Amino acid sequence: MGGQYRIAVIPGDGIGPEVVKAALGVLEQIGVTYGHQFVTKTLLAGGCAIDTTGNPLPPETVAECRKSDAVLLGAVGGDQWDHLPGDQRPEQALLGLRGQLGLYANLRPALLYPELKEACPLKPEIIGDGLDLLVVRELTGGIYFGTRGRRHTESTGWEAFDTEVYSEAEVERIARMAFTIARQRRRKVTSVDKANILESSRLWRAVVSRVAADYPEVELNHLYVDNAAMQLVKDPRQFDVIVTSNMFGDILSDEASMVTGSIGMLPSASLGEGNFGLYEPVHGSAPDLAGQDRANPLATILSVAMMLRYSLALPREAAAIEQAVEQVLAEGYRTGDLMSPGKTLVGTEEMGKLVRSHI
Ligand code: NAD
Repeated sequence: MGGQYRIAVIPGDGIGPEVVKAALGVLEQIGVTYGHQFVTKTLLAGGCAIDTTGNPLPPETVAECRKSDAVLLGAVGGDQWDHLPGDQRPEQALLGLRGQLGLYANLRPALLYPELKEACPLKPEIIGDGLDLLVVRELTGGIYFGTRGRRHTESTGWEAFDTEVYSEAEVERIARMAFTIARQRRRKVTSVDKANILESSRLWRAVVSRVAADYPEVELNHLYVDNAAMQLVKDPRQFDVIVTSNMFGDILSDEASMVTGSIGMLPSASLGEGNFGLYEPVHGSAPDLAGQDRANPLATILSVAMMLRYSLALPREAAAIEQAVEQVLAEGYRTGDLMSPGKTLVGTEEMGKLVRSHI
């Protein structure tokens, strides 16, 4: 017996609606093949919401998201809204959604498919037969949210400061999430901090070590962030799950994602309490490609796979999507961003249909 799930869908701007349409086609096929019912509700956020309602994140959108099991988002933003003041711009919708929905963890897998090895900037002997790691970044604490300001003194002139603050509770919940996810993967967590210098990192390390005792089947190691940055390019295959603070995660997840070669392949999840989550491709609205059927929909399709795995507890269905993507790549189909000699160029819609046909 299949289940019934409510999905809030925010196509957004630029290529957002195109990639979301392709991904929803794949989700529909999962419903048919596995007997689930996905009830979708399309909502406004971003530039299109500004044009229609004057607000980048209308309250109805947040209310509908709260009533759903998960949210699928395309991308927001575009040149036509760039003149607006910061707090009225489309990107405010993203910050608003994360804050109002209590999404405190950001999951970014960096998965290099063997078929796309040539797109990876690392040497073949370093990547071996592919890479598969996951960065779990704390999203609502740390230096991006701590006290900041400027002060003037006679002796120093102007000074500016930002504050890294973490509570035990904040570290504990992100650590538990990382260990829980690692249990379903290769059972290894690397916690990244700067405990040789920062007091907040020393608390971070102590709490992560304490939480680890509850997950004896998961191996834990600690790395300083400078070493982690180096290891990611020197020997990325040593990593399974990396858990780290907001700022370190911001930087390391971008570094890790580069190994996959194209931004069009990168999904992400933002999770809060319980199973609720928001799923979106890492890329933006790519105004240069919008409306031309040229965007790669695979990042959004793989975001749907993450949604099935993390919010809807449907790992078999998630794996079916990931395998379908792998098969389509193995058959040589590529969107423009991944194109190389000898491969078959397809558009956004066709790529979505190809993945769908392999479910
Ligand atoms: P972008 O990710 O939209 O584009 C960067 C480059 O990657 C472009 O050359 C684009 O053509 C290419 N690209 C992106 N997605 C692709 C895909 N699926 N397939 C093929 N190529 C793809 O970043 P940007 O140009 O810096 O920003 C454009 C707009 O998107 C801005 O308004 C920005 O604020 C917004 N943005 C939104 C989000 C989001 O909604 N989460 C994230 C980043 C940027």
